[in-house]
Amino acid sequence: MKELNRRSFTKRIGLGLAASALPLNSYPFIGDHTNTKKKLGIALVGLGSYSTYQLAPSLQETKHCYLAGVVTGTKSKEQDWKDTYGITDDCIYDYDNFDSIINNSKIDIVYVVLPNSMHADFCIRAANAGKHVICEKPMAVNVVACDAIIAACKKNNVKLSVGYRMQSDPYTKEIKKYVKEKTFGDIHFVSSDAAYISKGNPGQWRLNKSLSGGGALMNMGVYAIQTSIYGIGNNPVSVSAQEFSTRPDYFKDTDETITAQFEFPNNAVGQMMTSHNANGNHLKSYGSNGWFELDPAHSYGPISGRTSDGNTIHFPHKMQQAIQMDDFSKHILMDTPNVAPGEMGKRDMIIVEAIYTSISEGGKKQVLDLGDMGIVRG
Ligand code: NAD
Repeated sequence: MKELNRRSFTKRIGLGLAASALPLNSYPFIGDHTNTKKKLGIALVGLGSYSTYQLAPSLQETKHCYLAGVVTGTKSKEQDWKDTYGITDDCIYDYDNFDSIINNSKIDIVYVVLPNSMHADFCIRAANAGKHVICEKPMAVNVVACDAIIAACKKNNVKLSVGYRMQSDPYTKEIKKYVKEKTFGDIHFVSSDAAYISKGNPGQWRLNKSLSGGGALMNMGVYAIQTSIYGIGNNPVSVSAQEFSTRPDYFKDTDETITAQFEFPNNAVGQMMTSHNANGNHLKSYGSNGWFELDPAHSYGPISGRTSDGNTIHFPHKMQQAIQMDDFSKHILMDTPNVAPGEMGKRDMIIVEAIYTSISEGGKKQVLDLGDMGIVRG
């Protein structure tokens, strides 16, 4: 995945702010904590790489939300975010005083961008503070924690979404349209992979099970599960899986490479691969009347696609995260569909758990009873 370097990031932000006619806190209705707001205030929790290089820049392009606050455990980052984005002191929190965000009417949405095992705690605290919640993928490290997040949002009557940016991407919407309209006939087979070669610090949290919940499957595998499902239009009814380990000295605590096979309704089948020791970024769906594919299928963009009739799939590039956060804001402000609801994140975690169970049982098929859980048909 491409990351902006610090210089181009700062330059982009400078341009973004210069292009903005009003200071952030002078948008009409800001401070009025109702759906009459024109723009919703988002607070990012965790100022690591994804918040810094993707979400904050994207929030300079959003129409229905803006970057209002931050929650960080690193005091030294605060000044930089204040200077770059004009965030005011009253909208900066640390992990301990975070719950007092309940009193801040400038913050409408809390976006949790922390290591996976911390998602549930902060999403539940955000919901208890009366804030709408976006939870990064994977939603949590197990199904029980997903249920706890969903229950907390329900109890506090706040909306919940998972940071599945691909669900807002125009290429995904086009694929869903092909499936729905049977442009290439009934889909009988789907193949998906989402993988990269991990070479960094072996002490990183993604390789530490207590923080990540698992390896490649938790990190990249959820993309392959997602594409398998929207590439065929149904949830799987069973899964069988295998794990491969070739660098046990590096992947001491987490899975390295996993392959899985799905059965879907209507005699359709599929396969996926995820790895921290191979590259892969692909979706291909084979129908009774042709095929379509995306390669790359899960990058920040641009995505690239082709179909069996010789056409390319092409849309102008926009930051997926900007569309994603605007989609969720419109859901709150205008009651449009939630394109990535909590049930979708929970459904994927049920599949993740079934994959780990299958591996532990020597590849035994696991029956899944998901119905249409988490399916959002466009
Ligand atoms: P990162 O390591 O760059 O940042 C993690 C942040 O969490 C840092 O600010 C760090 O200070 C903070 N943190 C708090 N407690 C920590 C602890 N005990 N150990 C380590 N860090 C701790 O990670 P990231 O790439 O920004 O990922 C954060 C989340 O965002 C993850 O859930 C990841 O899966 C998700 N993510 C999603 C996408 C996407 O495309 N949707 C892309 C990247 C990351």
